[in-house]
Amino acid sequence: MKMSSKLTIALSFVIIISSGAVLYAQSLTCAQCGNSITSGSYVSVDGKVFHPEHFRCAYCGRKIESVQYNKHNGYYYHPEHYEQFIAPRCAVCGQAILGQYVEYEGKKYHKDHYEEQIALKCSYCGLPINGQYSITFWGETYHDYHEGRAVKCDYCQRYISDEGTAGGIKYEDGRNICGICLTSVINDDNVARHLFEEVKKELRQYRIDIQWDEIGLYLVDRNYIAGLSNETRVIEKQTGFTYHRFETIRGTVRNKKFDIYILRGMPEMEFISTAAHELMHVWLYLNAPYDMDKMMSEGSANYASYLVLKKRTLFRAKYLIDNLEKDRDIIYGDGYRRIKRLVRAKRVNGWLDIITEKERLPSGY
Ligand SMILES: [Zn+2]
Ligand SMILES: [Zn+2]
Ligand SMILES: [Zn+2]
Ligand SMILES: [Zn+2]
Ligand SMILES: [Zn+2]
Ligand SMILES: [Zn+2]
Repeated sequence: MKMSSKLTIALSFVIIISSGAVLYAQSLTCAQCGNSITSGSYVSVDGKVFHPEHFRCAYCGRKIESVQYNKHNGYYYHPEHYEQFIAPRCAVCGQAILGQYVEYEGKKYHKDHYEEQIALKCSYCGLPINGQYSITFWGETYHDYHEGRAVKCDYCQRYISDEGTAGGIKYEDGRNICGICLTSVINDDNVARHLFEEVKKELRQYRIDIQWDEIGLYLVDRNYIAGLSNETRVIEKQTGFTYHRFETIRGTVRNKKFDIYILRGMPEMEFISTAAHELMHVWLYLNAPYDMDKMMSEGSANYASYLVLKKRTLFRAKYLIDNLEKDRDIIYGDGYRRIKRLVRAKRVNGWLDIITEKERLPSGY
C-alpha cells in the first residue's frame, strides 16, 4: 500500500537585536509611543525603531535590554519569558521548542524527539520516514526508494535485512527467503507427506473426495518445476505441478498415474496452499471434463487453496488469501474470483456440480 507522511518543519524565531547611534534623530519616530527619538540611541527591529526603554517584552512589560529577543505573532519577548511562557511545547518532552520543530498531526515536536519517538521508521533501514512510503500486509513500513534496490523475500514480500527479517538466504534456484519465513519451511519428505494427507482429508469435508490413494509427492526446486511445465508465463509464481498420465487400452482408460511436485523450502502455509491447489487438479482429472477451460480449472484449484487457508488462524493464511484475491493474472486471478462468485451464489455443491458437467464457466460468474 502506498502512503505519505505529512509534516511541517518550521522555525521559532531567535533574533539578534540591532541598535545604533542616532545621527538624524529628528527623522525617527518610536513605534511604541509615537514620539520622535531625540536621545542618543534607539532600537531598530523589523524596519521599526523604538526608544530603548519602549522596546518591551509583551509578557512582563519591562524593557528588553539583552542583545537577544524572541518574536512571536508580532510581539517581542525576553528570551527567558518567551521560553517559559510563550514558546510552543514539544509533545514528547514538554519542553519549549526554540529551534527547528516538526509539526505532525496537529502537534509540535523537537525535530530529534519527533524522529526518535514519533516518526514512522523504515523497517528495512531503520531511518525515520518523511514522505513517500509503503506499508506491507504485515504492517512493516518502507521508504519507497528501496523499491528495486533491496532484495525482497519471495514468500512474504518483506525486504530482507538483519534487523527487519532476521536475515535470509538465497536458494540455489534463485529464490530469496527471509529469516522469518525460514522458520517454518518444509524440506522433509515425511513432514510434507503428513501435511499433504491432512489437506486431502480437509478437502473431503467439502465433497472434494480424491479417490486415488497412490499419488506421488516430490519436493523439488524451481528449475525442476519449470522443466515439467511448458508454461513459461507464470513460472515465477508457480509453486507446484501435477503430472498425470492416463493409459488407454483399446479406447478405455486402464491406468492412471498422478505425481505432485511441490517446491522444496517453502513456508508451511505455502506448502498447504499448494497441496490443496494440486490435489484439486487431481480431483478434476478424475471427475471433470478433460478439456476443461484453464480459467475454470485454475480458478477452482485456487479456490481449493482458499478453502484450506480460510480455516487457519495464522496471519500468514490471511496473507495468502489476500494474494489470491489480488492476483492480477487473467487465468489464475480472474479464474479464482469467478469461482468465488459462483460459490457465493450456488454454494460448494453447486460449484462442484457445474465443474463436473461443463467445460467452461457459465456466464454471469
Ligand atoms: Zn517611545
Ligand atoms: Zn519579559
Ligand atoms: Zn522534545
Ligand atoms: Zn528505509
Ligand atoms: Zn519472508
Ligand atoms: Zn494449477
